Amino acid sequence: MTDILSLLAYDKAHIWHPYTSTINPLPVYPVKRAEGVYIELENGQRLIDGMSSWWCAVHGYNHPVLNAATERQLKDMSHVMFGGFTHRAAVELAQKLLEIAPAGMEMVFFCDSGSVAVEIAMKMALQYAYARGKKDKKHFLTISKGYHGDTWNAMSVCDPVTGMHSIFQGTLPVQYFVPRPGCRFGTPCTEEDIAPLKARLASNHTDIAAVILEPIVQGAGGMWFYSADYLRQVRELCNGYDILLICDEIATGFGRSGKLWAVEHAGISPDILCAGKALTGGYMSFAAVMTTNQVATTISSHGPYVFMHGPTFMGNPLACAVASASIGLISSYNLPKMLGRIEAQLKRELGEASQFPNVVDVRVLGAIGVVEMKTDVDMDMATVQAQFVKEGVWIRPFGRLVYVMPPFIITEEQLHILTAAMIKVLKTI
Ligand SMILES: *Cc1c(COP(=O)(O)O)cnc(C)c1O
Repeated sequence: MTDILSLLAYDKAHIWHPYTSTINPLPVYPVKRAEGVYIELENGQRLIDGMSSWWCAVHGYNHPVLNAATERQLKDMSHVMFGGFTHRAAVELAQKLLEIAPAGMEMVFFCDSGSVAVEIAMKMALQYAYARGKKDKKHFLTISKGYHGDTWNAMSVCDPVTGMHSIFQGTLPVQYFVPRPGCRFGTPCTEEDIAPLKARLASNHTDIAAVILEPIVQGAGGMWFYSADYLRQVRELCNGYDILLICDEIATGFGRSGKLWAVEHAGISPDILCAGKALTGGYMSFAAVMTTNQVATTISSHGPYVFMHGPTFMGNPLACAVASASIGLISSYNLPKMLGRIEAQLKRELGEASQFPNVVDVRVLGAIGVVEMKTDVDMDMATVQAQFVKEGVWIRPFGRLVYVMPPFIITEEQLHILTAAMIKVLKTI
């Protein structure tokens, strides 16, 4: 299995990649190693990473501080069960996380991945309603074009059109959807923008346990940045109807949107917050659900008196150790300056794409740059991907969206190579 061709052949014959066909899979590029912003292919070619491995690798790859933290923890233990045990790695991470978390977050539940965190958050909201004797509160309200993961309840609040609802119709829990807010980030939210959500809450607040949404940045569901004013109004409406607000910060947490948490743009706090992806600096799968003392205490004050969840790898020490080190790095950065620089450069260098015949919109927020095309890039994904690789960058479009969200440590020169490649390739499609 040493030669690359047989490795690729085995991969193609036996391994499933994300959202792919086994009969006709898209090509995959074999990676040998990665360091800093570079991903090195087996053929020796080095690509500048424009994706941060799907929002995760904010510090780049093979980071000495994260490596050291992982190695240190590995020598003590990589895992012990969390039932009946605790350890320094978990306690330290909880302290660090709650210190930087939005106001009101006091309790943390560690779990395996983002989707699981969303399941847990939704379960918390349901148990909270149950504990208060509000047995009708079995549904969730969300905004369209969202993405919350691939597990069952998470899927039920993903966009009903572009998500997987059509295949799983009749088996997924039924939720309430309102249109995604049309008001862009940086603009006020009009009465018309908030009216559908207001109306749904007015008519169904007795059977809604929580509103769940991605604050400010809708990620995989459409890379859309909406008004902070909208989020503020959602918070107020939830307060008014005594409904919990779950903010899914799995993509936005740890600085991606230009603030440490996207909710900071609106100056609000959720009742339940999901963090994942960049939590471990992209080193391994791990997530955390944080909530208020009020939610935790209510759940624990009524039968069954416990929160019903406990994954095998809960509080995994290796993941906790690397997550603590990652938060340490984040805290050591001048985040506003670092992200402000990336944001300004993305705006400057991607701006001209809005003139291209096939481009509908260019938008930038924090360390996210999005070019929305008129037609699907997916059709010719393999070709577009190959063009980017030829330019020495790793950019993976989906649907009509071509976007970059580079590691925060990217230099001005490296980011320029990334945006120049985007401009060059987009001109041709
Ligand atoms: C990626 C993502 C998830 C799912 O996380 P996984 O770790 O892939 O399960 C959930 N919500 C949002 C907003 C995400 O971006």
